[in-house]
Amino acid sequence: MISKYDEVKQRLPELVELERITKATQVPCHTRIIQQVECGDYRLPIYAIDLGDMREGKPSLILVGGIHGIERIGAQVVIAQLKVWLERLKWERSLQQGLAEINITLIPIVNPVGMMLNRRGNGNKVDLMRNSPIESEDGSLLVSGQRFSKWLPWFRGSKQQLEPESLALQEEIAAITRRSPFTLSIDCHSGFGMHDRIWFPYAYRRRPMKDIAPIIALKLLWESSYPNHQYIFEPQSNHYMTHGDLWDYFYKKFGRNGNTFLPLTLEMGSWNWVRKRPLQMLRLEGLFNPLVPHRKRRALRRHLPLMDFLRHATHSYKNWLPTGLQVEKLQQMAHSLWYRNDLG
Ligand SMILES: [Zn+2]
Repeated sequence: MISKYDEVKQRLPELVELERITKATQVPCHTRIIQQVECGDYRLPIYAIDLGDMREGKPSLILVGGIHGIERIGAQVVIAQLKVWLERLKWERSLQQGLAEINITLIPIVNPVGMMLNRRGNGNKVDLMRNSPIESEDGSLLVSGQRFSKWLPWFRGSKQQLEPESLALQEEIAAITRRSPFTLSIDCHSGFGMHDRIWFPYAYRRRPMKDIAPIIALKLLWESSYPNHQYIFEPQSNHYMTHGDLWDYFYKKFGRNGNTFLPLTLEMGSWNWVRKRPLQMLRLEGLFNPLVPHRKRRALRRHLPLMDFLRHATHSYKNWLPTGLQVEKLQQMAHSLWYRNDLG
């Protein structure tokens, strides 16, 4: 008979790996359980790992993964990044010194039950990325989210109450944005597509967000610092519109208190993994994850430059965040790039 721990080890190796590396590390990092969720006989923890002293007044970077349980590669990318930073913190003075001036929080597995069961939704079959109380201006498709039945995909859950995983994430984002003059977050997902995409709000409407100027400034900074990169920057509504996106909700709730909050989503295009191995499409997880070891390794190293760039951009936000006339210029640029048909 296999023990409980052996079953978790088999079905949720990412959680076991996360516990191993945070326990083994010699460098200062603080691991917290921000929520526990039931899965049959198990209570699975949702961990947040803090690098830095979390002092008020410092800018913050947040890395999130595993919101959709089937998209395991998102959690794996965040865990791979944590490992890299923990290793480099042992010797790299610039990283050690950098943490005196910024805080980093990683929440690699937001939906451990979904990951354990290899499905998109949480234990209540709720799609957490449709769970917030925001209605889309054009959400007639099933994929936009629905409240008809938990047996259909993209189920939004209750209108009155966020799911425990969404609530835990909300508390983290509230606390971090409250104490930080500038917060950048990136939430790692995968989906069926040719390209790696970086999405920003909104998913519920086509008109631009208030902070569109800082967003395009960040895009330009990335492109000039890392030419020939493979990402497509776009508002999520360019791709498809949804109800209940958590980042739309958190941005509207916490992005307006005088502190800047820029939430990004990384959508890794799975076509890179599928096209050379079409049979992988026969397995649901094959649509969302690289199943061959060398492709998985490639996915895990592919986004390290982006994550390090986001760390530097957070640290040096005062050097690129637009002000005054720049804001208007950048807004115009964003309009012509992304909102030409929909000036708002
Ligand atoms: Zn996803």
